[in-house]
Formats: sequence, structure tokens, C-alpha cells
Amino acid sequence: MELPKKISDEQLRPYLKYGENDARARLQAFIRQQHATWPDLAAAHRRLDTRLTRTLPLTDSSVELQCNPGRTRSTTAKVAAKDVAQRPCFLCPANLYPEQLGLLFASDWLILNNPFPIFNGHMVISTIRHTAQLLEPALPAMISFVHEQHGTFSAFYNGARCGASAPDHLHFQACPAGMLPIERQLSALLDEPLRKETPWYVTTLDNRGIGLCRAASAPELLGRLRVMCARLNRTADPGDEADLNLIIFGRRGRLAGVCLPRRTHRPACFFATGDAQYVISPGAVDVAGLAILPRQMDFERMTKEKMLSIYAEVCLGADVMADCTT
Ligand SMILES: [Zn+2]
Repeated sequence: MELPKKISDEQLRPYLKYGENDARARLQAFIRQQHATWPDLAAAHRRLDTRLTRTLPLTDSSVELQCNPGRTRSTTAKVAAKDVAQRPCFLCPANLYPEQLGLLFASDWLILNNPFPIFNGHMVISTIRHTAQLLEPALPAMISFVHEQHGTFSAFYNGARCGASAPDHLHFQACPAGMLPIERQLSALLDEPLRKETPWYVTTLDNRGIGLCRAASAPELLGRLRVMCARLNRTADPGDEADLNLIIFGRRGRLAGVCLPRRTHRPACFFATGDAQYVISPGAVDVAGLAILPRQMDFERMTKEKMLSIYAEVCLGADVMADCTT
């Protein structure tokens, strides 16, 4: 059966460069096609180009702040089960925007352009069926996606209670490689000679417990991350999973997975009122060092101390990762 929202070869062909038709070329052509035929997507990217950004030094690293009013809806999305059940699912093919198409990936996923981008080239990779957000079924697709794109894109996963604004529909996201600060920060650490022999590297970076796994191949990374997830999930309810964000990236022909286990989704300041309120709803991107702040007042007044306290509140310590990787 032909999927109604799948972009056809005829629709893609005018945007492919002559002689190119591999996965990387097809993804770039698909992005060009959607920008050319979907005015609201092109407008969202024009606004993205003028967003305010600044770098905030922390203790171990730094965080990039992005003022992005276009993310208000995602940041403040009601993600409680009763609220989710009452709205049409925006990732189901039947509910996509009229101009929105998907590039078929691995037979049962659609690559979509995110209509509320954080990055230039912000993709959502969503399963064609409406099924629960769980890492186990997403993991092979995430690794394949990064592998197939030769590491030019990184993939990231938000657990259902860790930043996913569609916690009821299985999906992950992707951005051009190197856009997530943690990727760059950990890449430098990986060059230390002592790190080269061990697949796992566990550390705490500015109050975020982090487990980094390196692998020489996609099957090796999948195997190692599956073992880690099974251990992490020992504390979860049956059929559910531990709260986490996961990032997959490629580097110099190798693959890496970064796991950040989570204590909670939103910090107390999200729910506060008046001056005490900061509208920040951390997902994988935010804990990876790119904090998305829809309100300019929060962007301007964010401090090192506030950011560190938010990380301490929403992330778990490195001891959790150490228990899952030894
Ligand atoms: Zn759905």
C-alpha cells in the first residue's frame, strides 16, 4: 500500500543534484523540496536565522542559549496522558500539515521536517504507526539513520517524560552533526589516549551524569546500548522505560551513543509564577548544552547558577550510569 504522505521519486527528482541518489543526497533534496513547497517551513527558517543566541560559561563546560519564540508551543506542551489523549496526534500521517511530506526510511519510518525548528536541518523521524514512545524500538533506527548519513547528522531521543512533545507516538529527531555542544565537548575527551581502549566513558559534566559509549560499527553500538538500557530499565514499570535522553553521533568513521538519565522533565521554575518563572522544558537538546528559551526575558537573565541548578534538578548523577555500564 502506498503511504499517502510519502514523497515520491517524481517529487524528489527535481531537487536531486545530477548523478546523486544516495541516502545523503536524497535527504538534502527532500529538505530543499519541502522548503520550496511549504511556505510556513521556509518562513520558520527565516525567523530561525535571526534568533538571539549567546554562550554562557558553566563550571566544566558552557551552554549555548537560544531565544526561540517559535518553540513556545513545544516548550509549554501539555504532555500529561489525559491532555495527550484529547488532541489529534501531529505525528500521525493523516494529521500532518497539507504541504508536509515524509521521506521513507527503513520501511516503516518517515523523515519529516520539523515545522518549529531549533536547527537549520531539524528533522523528526517518526514511525508510520501510532505506537508508544520507547527507546528499544527506536534505537536500531537511530543508529541506522546516523550510519546511513555517514555521521553528517546526529540523532537524539526524548523519553516520553523527558522532553517529547508527542509522548504517545514513537519518534526521534536529528540535526546536522556538531550542532549539539555536548557532542563537541565529548569528542575532545575521546581523543585522550587512556579513553581509546574502553567502550564506556562515564562522567559528570556540570551536574549532568553522562555515559558515553563508542563503537566501531552499528551492530556493536546497538548491542552495547541495549545492554545499558536493559540495566537502566530495571527500575521501570513493566512495559515502560527509565527516563532518559539519548544522542547518537558519528565521528571519524566510528559511532557514539551518549546517555543522560533523567530525574524529572521540567524544573520547578517552569511551574513557578511571576519573576520566579523560567519557561524552559529540557529535552535532549537542552541537556546536551543548547538551552531553548522561548521568552526573551529568560534568555537575557539566565545565569550560570540558574542553569547549573536546572541541570541538577532534571538530570541524575553519573553513579546511575556507572551502575549500568560495568
Ligand atoms: Zn500518532
